[in-house]
Amino acid sequence: MAVTRAALLSVDQHAATVAGLLAPTPAERRPLVECFGLALAGELAARVALPSFDNSAMDGYAVRSAEVASASAERPVELPVAEDIPAGRTDVPPLAPGTAHRIMTGAPLPVGADAVVQVELTDAGTSAVRLFAAARPGQNVRYAGEDVTAGSVVLPAGATLDAGQIGVAAAAGHGTLAVHRPPRVLVLSTGSELVSPSAGVELAPGQIYESNGPMLAAAVRAAGAEPELAHFVSDDVDAFHAALAPRAAAVDLVLTSGGVSAGAYEVVKDALAAHGVSFVKVAMNPGMPQGAGRFKGTPVVTLPGNPVSALVSFEVFVRPALRAAAGHAVVHRPRVIARLTEAADSPPEKRQFRRGRLDPDGTVSLVGGSGSHLLGSLAASNCLVELAEGISHVDAGTPVPVLVLAP
Ligand code: AMP
Ligand code: MG
Repeated sequence: MAVTRAALLSVDQHAATVAGLLAPTPAERRPLVECFGLALAGELAARVALPSFDNSAMDGYAVRSAEVASASAERPVELPVAEDIPAGRTDVPPLAPGTAHRIMTGAPLPVGADAVVQVELTDAGTSAVRLFAAARPGQNVRYAGEDVTAGSVVLPAGATLDAGQIGVAAAAGHGTLAVHRPPRVLVLSTGSELVSPSAGVELAPGQIYESNGPMLAAAVRAAGAEPELAHFVSDDVDAFHAALAPRAAAVDLVLTSGGVSAGAYEVVKDALAAHGVSFVKVAMNPGMPQGAGRFKGTPVVTLPGNPVSALVSFEVFVRPALRAAAGHAVVHRPRVIARLTEAADSPPEKRQFRRGRLDPDGTVSLVGGSGSHLLGSLAASNCLVELAEGISHVDAGTPVPVLVLAP
């Protein structure tokens, strides 16, 4: 039906709409231990050089390399040990000619020394030491600034703070960081068939356990945002507004699921169509019915109810927008090319996202069919296989783009 097709928005168009709804969250200062996973709000300069002083890379003996050039196992060089320099010693005297200092890893190299002979190549003496090997100039020395120079940028604005980034921030002298506050997201599921999952609760025929709420709350958290899971509501406009109205103003995004397709009792559509949310069809499978807009100023994204559609839509539209709002420079999942282990069909007018299992050998297998109710298959997958618009069939062995969701 040409008319219906013309009405479809492209995935990229709807993604741009959703991304445009969310403004960057404000910056705030947090202690390092509370920064994991957040995005740095401005570039970070090193307060000190790294290393900040010339120091030993080994436990051993600081020497003048020229004085030990002839040392060997057969003809050791013997030097008096004038000083003992543990890590943390701050008053290190210069190395007098004809002497060695015993030195530990990370301790400051004495002025005059230009190399360290590691302890394993000595007799480990404390008043005098026999050195069984020579050392080139600079051997086992870590020079000031060889990693990072003082004042240089160690992390760019928008860096995602993983362990390594937090480590360098601390080493460079920062106990707190300016980071973007994680966006707050109200998650609200709809459906009169929904029942809270609980061991004590049996389902009546026609009822299902509610899964989108906990699933989307987890996806929000995995995106680096702060979920607030509202209790689901029935397909009743008044119940929906009663759940939404008191909480919408306090969050950066309202994320609903269900009630947006073409049937009757489409509660989200009925409740929000007159309140600034546009309901559209996107050329995507799964996830055709979508909605986005603002309710009393708060951004709202309405996801379809089928669990696979909801999570795929979240991945495609909401996650990148949340990451951008949270200040991350990198907002997209890693996208790799992998060979499909089997043939697949796809509706050519849509971009299809199939659940897949990406293997370390560079192949990807489909998990389950294309049905948007197949939550078991979703749970067994670690990636989404993207079959672009225009593709109706791919043969086994075809390289396809893959969005990597999990290891
Ligand atoms: P809807 O978009 O509301 O028409 O729902 C489409 C399908 O998704 C139906 O089979 C619903 O029962 C199911 N569904 C909707 N919301 C949820 C939910 N929160 N948890 C699990 N399944 C849901
Ligand atoms: Mg529903």
